[in-house]
Amino acid sequence: MNYLTATREALSREYDELKKSYDAICAEGLKLDLSRGKPSAEQLDLCEDLFTTLTSGAEARSESGLDCRNYGEAYGLAEARRFFSEYTGVPAENIIVCGNSSLNLMYDAIARCLLFGTVGSPRPWCREERLKFLCPAPGYDRHFAVTESFGFELIPVTMTAEGPDMDEVEALVAADPAVKGIWCVPKYSNPTGITYSEDTVRRLVSMTTAAPDFRIFWDNAYAVHAFGEEDDALADIFALAREAGHEDRVFYFTSTSKITLPGAGISMIAASEANLVGIRAAMSVQTIGHDKLNQLRHVRLFAKEGALHERMLAHGRVIGRKFGLLLSVLRRDLSGLGIATWTEPRGGYFSSLDVLDGCAARVYALCAEAGVALTKVGATFPYGKDPHDRNLRLAPTFASDEALTKAAGVLTVAVRMAAIEKLLAE
Ligand code: PLP
Repeated sequence: MNYLTATREALSREYDELKKSYDAICAEGLKLDLSRGKPSAEQLDLCEDLFTTLTSGAEARSESGLDCRNYGEAYGLAEARRFFSEYTGVPAENIIVCGNSSLNLMYDAIARCLLFGTVGSPRPWCREERLKFLCPAPGYDRHFAVTESFGFELIPVTMTAEGPDMDEVEALVAADPAVKGIWCVPKYSNPTGITYSEDTVRRLVSMTTAAPDFRIFWDNAYAVHAFGEEDDALADIFALAREAGHEDRVFYFTSTSKITLPGAGISMIAASEANLVGIRAAMSVQTIGHDKLNQLRHVRLFAKEGALHERMLAHGRVIGRKFGLLLSVLRRDLSGLGIATWTEPRGGYFSSLDVLDGCAARVYALCAEAGVALTKVGATFPYGKDPHDRNLRLAPTFASDEALTKAAGVLTVAVRMAAIEKLLAE
């Protein structure tokens, strides 16, 4: 039955049935969680060998002979820079390898721009009268939080299946020098799971910006995170930026948080040679260096040809199975009703569910009452406000298979109830 064309009587009957199921679910006293984009324990167990790649001080020498127990190589070991270079395609000399968190690097990058400006800045960003940042939405709430906390005005940009709506982006950046940057998760995006098309990447690096120091914050957190051998292709942003004469426009970030261990991996920032001068200058005051022992552990774990690919396939088998469970419930319960659409990505950690306009908060509340936690409704939009109240981020990786299947079933009952409540109220 398509809910949008069904009679009021048919909808009422359907609602009564759903309400019975829902009340029975509530009586079960569930405590399930679909909110967290974290790996499951099964995935963390795949990285047991990270603990044994380095077992004594005698093994702690880098390829240059540096004793990694000591200070030195503040911008990362050469072999760690090569490790990131091999899978991102960014030349190793443009990479600085840092500590455990790429989000931390993004925060610092914004802070540096505010305090000192960047290549092309007429003045430090904090001296500008107004600051704006483009936030493709639905997007990653922690990105939005960084720029919000520093006082930028957050400008939402529509997300499409090919990345941010470039007509909107081009118009916004051309018109207003206060627009200083854009957040991008270009591959298996958080939360829609889409990968930017080559045309989108090309337009981002080629567009005319009113701000002479506009920056693309390229957070390629899910660069190698396909579920299987089929992988989305992402264009090489630095190559295209160089071609367009805008190499300085890109700050590139990634980490091994979802390759080895979240919170205990290694991260990198990459930028043009001109940008690196300022980054290194500030960083050299900020720290004497990051954890090189962990860099060594990672390099050794992935030293063998194909080791990274094998590891990601092992993660992908676990995550792909979870997505399969979630999506099969969505397809079974919501297909053809006309009340929901969702993304079915080939990699990453998230799927994005759109329900009827004005229904997401109700779905969230119904799920909460039934003991299923979802990512806070609205979190995928700037200021936590979804203008259409329709988007929900689904994070299936952390829950057990059984809990996930159960939670997905509760979610679809909630989606159907919320839709009927809206249609009957119209
Ligand atoms: N960027 C995106 C898009 C993420 O989804 C996440 C974590 O979920 C992060 C960054 C956090 O990365 P890190 O652990 O390197 O700080």
